[in-house]
Amino acid sequence: MKTLVIGAGVAGVTTAWTLSQRGYDVTVIDALDGAAMETSYANAGQRSYGHVSPWAAPDVIGVGLRGLFSRQGPLKVHFPPHPSTISFLMRTLRYATTPRLYESNNTAMLKLGMVSREAFLALEDELSLNFDGDHQGLLEVTSDPQEASGLHNKAHALTQLGIHHEWLESDAVNRQEPGLQCPKPLQSSLLINGDGTGDCHRFTREMMAHCESAGVRFQFNTQLVGWQRSGNRVTGAELASSDPETAGTWTETADNVVLCAGCGSRKIARKLGLSLPVYPVKGYSLTAELKDADRAPRSTVVDLDRKVAITRLGDRMRVTGFAELAAFDRRIPQTRLDVIREAVESRFSGAADFHNAEAWTGFRPMLPDGPPALGKGPLENLYVNTGHGTFGWTLSAGSARILGQVMDGETPPIALDAFNPMRFSKRPPHPR
Ligand SMILES: Cc1cc2nc3c(=O)[nH]c(=O)nc-3n(C[C@H](O)[C@H](O)[C@H](O)COP(=O)(O)OP(=O)(O)OC[C@H]3O[C@@H](n4cnc5c(N)ncnc54)[C@H](O)[C@@H]3O)c2cc1C
Repeated sequence: MKTLVIGAGVAGVTTAWTLSQRGYDVTVIDALDGAAMETSYANAGQRSYGHVSPWAAPDVIGVGLRGLFSRQGPLKVHFPPHPSTISFLMRTLRYATTPRLYESNNTAMLKLGMVSREAFLALEDELSLNFDGDHQGLLEVTSDPQEASGLHNKAHALTQLGIHHEWLESDAVNRQEPGLQCPKPLQSSLLINGDGTGDCHRFTREMMAHCESAGVRFQFNTQLVGWQRSGNRVTGAELASSDPETAGTWTETADNVVLCAGCGSRKIARKLGLSLPVYPVKGYSLTAELKDADRAPRSTVVDLDRKVAITRLGDRMRVTGFAELAAFDRRIPQTRLDVIREAVESRFSGAADFHNAEAWTGFRPMLPDGPPALGKGPLENLYVNTGHGTFGWTLSAGSARILGQVMDGETPPIALDAFNPMRFSKRPPHPR
């Protein structure tokens, strides 16, 4: 079965691998000149299976408003907001205030996280992969009583699902992360034992090499600009070269199509009558070589006070922050980098030189409720694996595994209602 996967980020490449292992004849299309060059390039590096949660949280607006006008506030909105930003915020508000929706989506995402953990471990067992990957847990720390109470609510969901976690006292925090500095006494420290880390870009590149060995074809600098349809089926993709030197358009026929186009999904899904309101939630990262490994994190630390994630990636460390609603604005303001740098230096001072770090900005492909769109689309041979927002690296291996099961008519190990790609039709949201 000839299958086109649109997008060579981590979602597309893991999907291509899974499908190739299931006997599909796979071609991956991407507008850029290589794999993992968009959002999968320099994310926080957390494989945070037990830390995943929906974007539309009941406190999202409160948290946003509290920090909107302060330099460090994690949520930023560009003024005047773009119409797509207003529409995204309105939808977010609607989902965040729908009774019980957050809880049911949270459970669904945590279950997908557990599938992903298992799928990653299987992949790492099967393939020789070199991506600075590890599984030494994720530590969330806070000195703020309000954040601490939120952390306790979160731990409740972990307990209910049997996801291994521990509350750490200060000596245990020190054993877990000996380099961590705590200028103020910690109110709460939660360790999610099974979580992991890894460089998403390197992983995707390694997986691409395995895909090619398995016969998957990659067409880069190739943009999907339209579709060919016959009745209830997609019969082909209209492609255009995005390299000005080899301009041209052509059609590629297919038996199946899988949408994995991250922030580009909205536009191309609409051409097939599918509403996927993916919004680009901007964030920033700084990556630096280690200067003193003893002062660096061993694994990954989420600082809930400063709202940054700090991760060890082999002999480098990375810090990320901010959720900015600015449509596709690729500028990197120095003020944002300064806030992130100050945060990491307050926790791991002297570990790395963040004045000489690689700065990056990327766009989380966010759906306004939070869970990704995963499963069968509205046409017979259209499938979707996109919109993973803040957690696309974490959920990639599991989402790809589940998509393969759906395409082969197998019953996945978890319910997929929360991930229904058709859930953004006109009917009102309801808890599942
Ligand atoms: C600051 C930041 C920190 C993050 N930290 C983490 C983290 O620690 N853990 C985690 O799990 N996740 C994290 N994420 C989220 C994660 O990076 C994303 O969810 C994930 O990379 C999305 O992967 P993707 O393959 O869906 O999208 P992408 O990597 O963006 O890939 C989509 C691809 O589709 C291509 N495409 C789009 N439209 C077209 C078209 N019309 N034709 C052809 N090709 C097209 C694009 O060129 C692109 O290569 C973070 C994100 C940010 C911004």
